[in-house]
Amino acid sequence: KAYLDNYQVSQATRDFLAKTQRMFIGGNWVGASDGAVSEVIEASTGGVLTQIPEGTALDLDRAVAAARHQFDQGEWSQLKPLERERLLHKLADLLEAHAQELAEIESIDMGKSVVQALEVDIQGTIDTFRYFAGWASKIYGRSVEPASLPGSYVTYTRKEPVGVVASIIPWNFPLQTMAWKLGAALAVGCTVVVKPAELTSLSTLRFAELVQQAGIPDGVVNIVTGRGSVVGAAMSSHPGIDKITFTGSTPVGRTVGEAALADMKRMTLELGGKSAVLVFEDADIKAAAEAVAQGIFFNSGQVCDAGSRLYVHASIYEPFLEALTEYVSGLKMAPGLDPDCFISPLVSAKQQDSVLSYIEAGKQEGARLVFGGEAHGGSGYFVPPTLFADCRNDMKIVREEIFGPVLVSQSFSDEDEVVALANDSIYGLAAAIYSNDLTRVHRVIPQLKAGSVYVNGHSTIDPAMPFGGYKQSGFGRDLGPEQLESLLETKSVWITLS
Ligand code: NAD
Repeated sequence: KAYLDNYQVSQATRDFLAKTQRMFIGGNWVGASDGAVSEVIEASTGGVLTQIPEGTALDLDRAVAAARHQFDQGEWSQLKPLERERLLHKLADLLEAHAQELAEIESIDMGKSVVQALEVDIQGTIDTFRYFAGWASKIYGRSVEPASLPGSYVTYTRKEPVGVVASIIPWNFPLQTMAWKLGAALAVGCTVVVKPAELTSLSTLRFAELVQQAGIPDGVVNIVTGRGSVVGAAMSSHPGIDKITFTGSTPVGRTVGEAALADMKRMTLELGGKSAVLVFEDADIKAAAEAVAQGIFFNSGQVCDAGSRLYVHASIYEPFLEALTEYVSGLKMAPGLDPDCFISPLVSAKQQDSVLSYIEAGKQEGARLVFGGEAHGGSGYFVPPTLFADCRNDMKIVREEIFGPVLVSQSFSDEDEVVALANDSIYGLAAAIYSNDLTRVHRVIPQLKAGSVYVNGHSTIDPAMPFGGYKQSGFGRDLGPEQLESLLETKSVWITLS
């Protein structure tokens, strides 16, 4: 309460946080079947914010039954596509009307900057629902002329929604990631069961209230809060679920994928990253340094496609590190509700410990510490922006995803070398190129094994552009028309003419 009282927080947010939190199952607001709850901790102070139900496998069964009923015999998949479109726009309108409140909830729950939450997380959520709303009425198969059997058959394909979709969500962009899962699924006529991350479930529960207010039928969207090892694991093997869409770490994604494969559930896995940033000698040093800093330190580095591995041409390496140092010294580290905050606390004490242990490993491995690197003494889970220089690709801090405000860097001398260094990773989520040489840029783009390549910028996201990873960064794509395909079955129809 003291934390909230230090800043301007709307009455709506205060009222929401004061409520007893419930899960949303089949249109009902319920506690866990065994009454268990877990505490929600606020990241800037370590204080207890509220409690959320700790859902059980039985709660999941109930949610799946509600989603199953609504899909198999309910209104949702039978609804006119234009009516689904209207309801999704109505939901987007409500999200827009409550944007400030949702941003405050996200900031208080996750620790992130409230300004960034409003501009990125909440605006991205609204845009995603609006984009996919328009697709609801534009899903169709194709009429086919058989290649070897002309004249004997009328043949066409039908696109049918895959069924009940389970969405497992991470804590770094809670509402926005959920929107990435739900927008497309609801547009095509699927029903969903969502499990938000146990650290950040509050915005999803507030979202469920808006789903109900929008008039989306009961059972179409169900929210089960609780532990990944209980609810998430049960989802991965639940026979009533047709598709799993997971965003989170690569090790957990692998477990989820293996369980889902047992009964051939469809799956999309959006996983971790260690994205390479290539700065060539012709780049604008000041502009590139600012963009590189934003690309790793935004959301305190808790971004799946953060540009966390920096490779700079040897001829500009030291001036580039100086430009980075100067720019980062102007970024304010503060609680998320501070409107000037850029570096917010990490999500939890566990995450802070994990990031600090990587920083320690970097020092032990002999990387040169340029700035940051010391634990923040006060309350809250802060870690200052940290830059290591003279790293090598065999170092732990270069190979593993740190998921915090830590940038590792080294110099390179030619294009072939830097492409090889960039691709030398188990991950392949994204990469960035800083150069004004168009020929070079177009030569390098196809050589990078990454799902997104940003040129002279980082982490640009739009609902019309697919997002996902090569290699161990994932399986399938979210967003864009590519995502719709992953939520549809294709039925081939043959009508014999003679
Ligand atoms: P996490 O893998 O620990 O948890 C993700 C979700 O999985 C949570 O809801 C968690 O409760 C659940 N979970 C945990 N154990 C489970 C189990 N055994 N079975 C089923 N579900 C389980 O990841 P996190 O720490 O929440 O998020 C950070 C990770 O997510 C990073 O690796 C980051 O790169 C990745 N991420 C990827 C993308 C992307 O689009 N590729 C986006 C955001 C985050």
